[in-house]
Parts: sequence; structure tokens; C-alpha cells
Amino acid sequence: MKTVVIASNNAHKIDEIRAALDFEGWEFKSLREAQVDSDPEEDAATFEGNARIKARAAHELCGLAVLADDSGLEVDALDGAPGVLSARYAGVHGDDAANNRKLLEELAGTPDEARTARFVCSLVFVDEDGSELAARGTVEGRIGHEERGSEGFGYDPLFLPDEFGGERTFAEVPQAEKTAISHRGRALESLRAQLEERSR
Ligand code: IMP
Repeated sequence: MKTVVIASNNAHKIDEIRAALDFEGWEFKSLREAQVDSDPEEDAATFEGNARIKARAAHELCGLAVLADDSGLEVDALDGAPGVLSARYAGVHGDDAANNRKLLEELAGTPDEARTARFVCSLVFVDEDGSELAARGTVEGRIGHEERGSEGFGYDPLFLPDEFGGERTFAEVPQAEKTAISHRGRALESLRAQLEERSR
């Protein structure tokens, strides 16, 4: 059995990763399950840089294979903000309601055609021997004028992906419909292809 530690304790992410990388003989553990006490400062300027910080820090502590992800929202009219600060845009880490309020305030008066944005997800996989694979996924869309829907998390109620014709937010569709086109779903697909290629 190959153990892969997911450098996160977020149950939602862990489930999604388990489902996407269901290779025979692989088992995934959260940091807690693997008893790895790792919480490095994520101070890189890019999603990939932060994913690498998390993956390397956990790998150095346990010596096992580690998978880390970092994700966020880039809004063109705000020069790419909130970007790597997505989780703490309004000041408090993980306060989704405050982050969404701040985003709407920053975009007040910005017309529909200038509200373009994308979710980005970077994955970094560090194997037992320290070798590395990286994958990235994005989904393009626009920021709405009000929150809609109660599924998902974070900025989902404000994000109108182009694939849904700009009519439904990520928070108005079931999880599976989101994952099929989401930044994280796409990054996982790319990583899966790279892992399959490498094992040939
Ligand atoms: P992290 O990758 O856990 O650091 O998440 C960064 C932040 O980006 C989250 O707290 C959310 O605000 C935002 N984010 C990342 N992925 C999504 C998503 O799929 N939907 C909504 N917000 C997201």
C-alpha cells in the first residue's frame, strides 16, 4: 500500500482528491490521520508557490508522498485580487460572508462585461524520493451582483462560470456539476494523467 498524505485537514478537499485519484494500492491520509503536525507560513506570491511550501514542509516531516493544493479567485478588474489572499480577503481567515461582501463593494459600479474572473487551483505532488509533479486548473466566469445559492463554499454564490451560460452560480448546482468543470477538478484530472504517464 502506498500512503499519500494530503497536506490539508479540509474534509471536502480530501474527499474530492480521493475520488479523483482512485489508483489501486494507494491510500490517502489527512495531516491529522498521518499525525503530521505541519502548518507552514504560506507567503509565496503564487498559488503554485504556496502549494509547494505546504507539500515540501509536510514531506520533510514525514518522508511520505505528499499532495498539497492551493486555490483562489482572480478578478480582472481588481488586477487579480483577491488572488493568493482569497481566504482572508476581508481580514479574517475563512470568513466567507465578509469576503463576499468586500468583493461586491470593490466591484460596485463595475459593469457586467468588466466583471470577468477565474478560479485557479494549483496542485503539487512530492513523492517519497522528493521528486515532484505540478498541475494547474482554471475555470473562467464573471462575478455577479448578489449572492445566489447555498451549495459549495467561499465565493461560489458570486461566481457565474461561462459554462453555465452566465445564468447559474457555482452555489446553485449540485457538487458533481461543479466538480466536472471546476479549477480543482481540472487540476486533479491533469495530475492524474501525469501520474499515469509516469507509471507506464
Ligand atoms: P485554500 O486553497 O484552502 O487556501 O482556499 C483559498 C480560498 O479561495 C478559499 O477560502 C475560498 O475563499 C477560495 N476558493 C478556493 N476554491 C474555491 C471554490 O471552489 N469555490 C469558492 N471559493 C473558493
